[in-house]
Amino acid sequence: MTPHDGEASTSNFLRHAIETDLKANRFEGKRWATPPALAQALTQADLDPARIRTRFPPEPNGFLHIGHAKSICLNFGLAAAYDGVCHLRFDDTNPEKEEQAYVDAIMDAVKWLGFDWQSKGKSHLYFASDYFDVMYTFAQALIKAGHAYVDEQSPEQMRLTRGTLTEPGHDSPWRNRPIDESLARFEEMRNGQHPDGSLALRARVDMTSPNMNMRDPVIYRIRHAHHHRTADRWCIYPMYAWAHPVEDALEGITHSVCTLEFEDQRPFYDWTLNTLADLGCLARPLPRQYEFARLNMSYIVTSKRKLLQLVKDHHVSGWDDPRLPTLAGLRRRGYTPEAIRLFCERTGVSKANSRIDYSGLEQALRDDQDPKAPRSVAILNPLKLVITNLPEGYEETCHAPVHPHHPELGQRAFALTRELWIEREDFELVPPKKYFRLYPGNQVRLKYAYVVNCTGCVQDDDGNVIEVHAEYLPDTRSGTPGADAIKVKGTVTWVSAKHAIAATIHLYDRLFTEAYPDAGDADFLAHLNPESRQTVQGWLEPGTQTLTDVWQFERLGYFAPDRIENRPDQVVINRITTLKDNWATRSS
Ligand code: ATP
Ligand code: MG
Repeated sequence: MTPHDGEASTSNFLRHAIETDLKANRFEGKRWATPPALAQALTQADLDPARIRTRFPPEPNGFLHIGHAKSICLNFGLAAAYDGVCHLRFDDTNPEKEEQAYVDAIMDAVKWLGFDWQSKGKSHLYFASDYFDVMYTFAQALIKAGHAYVDEQSPEQMRLTRGTLTEPGHDSPWRNRPIDESLARFEEMRNGQHPDGSLALRARVDMTSPNMNMRDPVIYRIRHAHHHRTADRWCIYPMYAWAHPVEDALEGITHSVCTLEFEDQRPFYDWTLNTLADLGCLARPLPRQYEFARLNMSYIVTSKRKLLQLVKDHHVSGWDDPRLPTLAGLRRRGYTPEAIRLFCERTGVSKANSRIDYSGLEQALRDDQDPKAPRSVAILNPLKLVITNLPEGYEETCHAPVHPHHPELGQRAFALTRELWIEREDFELVPPKKYFRLYPGNQVRLKYAYVVNCTGCVQDDDGNVIEVHAEYLPDTRSGTPGADAIKVKGTVTWVSAKHAIAATIHLYDRLFTEAYPDAGDADFLAHLNPESRQTVQGWLEPGTQTLTDVWQFERLGYFAPDRIENRPDQVVINRITTLKDNWATRSS
């Protein structure tokens, strides 16, 4: 992996911002200590060895998807490109929906994508919940300085007095209460003396601000909920808009990259940091927030709620269903970390929202794998072909390159026998126009073997073709001087019926029939594609069953073993994507 693989190395506005900061020495004198680092502790600390710090801050309340991969590639990629460090921080400030199982799955997914929160022997794995004590003291400092107060209005009253986009809000009757009263109430909140929703700590900013987020946002609320790491120690939890900048600052983050929805939060992000720095709680230089457009793709949904619904209602087999855009699903399907990083890099970093077509992901897999995936042959819809002029028990070894452009990878060897499996679509009793494959009287090449002359077929009582007959032409073997003596227009892939390996093969199509299944208020379930997974019993070239990474079946696409279903005694493989250059449209 190159240092900034997955992150567009072509100049983008984030790189520009970083370069400007570095040129201006904005982080000169910045110190670093293992977080959480209070301002006082930092004065004794060493200079920060990292030139920049970024972070990937997932909330452990669901599985990562392709959109998160974009953020991972971007944050880890930028850190690597500028000799910085990227933190993996679990933003676990919302206890009800969070679980350790998600923490584990997220760590696993980040590693699998090829990124590491270890840097120069130090781990940079952090949990926002480790900062709860510090955050509590910061909140007290805000109250003491008159920058926060405990509001006793109900959530509904707070909503009604918040104003609208065109009207200013109104001060809460508790806004100017004595500081000591707020401090005492805040302590009572912490001690569990008040029920959920009865009191809240609000920042005291500006109820008339044109930015609604500055109208005294709630920064702590009461939640009598069990937390997966802090158990029942806390019954008050900080709100994201306030907690996030504090977490960033405690970790010495320089560039806090988030998605565009948070643009309107930036003034409060800056207010929080500057206010706390002025109070001596945080050290300067302070982090800055930068927003980019989230990755939106066609033919998928990424909302956690919608993904959960697909899983819970059994529209898919689980979080790792190969049709889902979760990293677990993409991985099971056979997508490689390299392909996902390439895709993320290609989609670039932008300030404007747009949709990326799903086919871009498939193309990234092809571009990643075409130069390296070993080649093999499979028959997905088998029809028997009998070479009638070969004796029973005949075996002749044929060869094909493992990779057409890498002779150094050597040759595959497989046997030509009297009975073969070919694709059903490679025979027509009555050929349509421009059909060049098998039909009585036509000659085709068996790939890597001989030219055969189709002599007829066997049909069952209903007229279905159950066996095709042909005679091979000696002296036409591929790679011998006679190979070109007879010109044929069609080539047919095959496997030996005696030696082929039986396999279950899952073929996938888009999960939805509509490009934007959840556009507007549409019921996305109404657009599920009933044919998104097709399972066939096919035959593989011997040897394929031991491949563990991605390979290409000639004509058919890129495949990989199913990580869950594949077993030594039962071969189960997934098609990741078809070949761009589809055989069916090329030569029938
Ligand atoms: P939620 O709606 O629950 O907050 P989320 O998708 O934002 O869901 P987080 O765990 O908060 O989930 O996301 C972690 C990080 O990934 C955030 O910094 C977020 O901005 C980023 N991220 C999430 N979805 C995308 C996306 N589609 N494109 C780019 N970045 C994303
Ligand atoms: Mg989020």
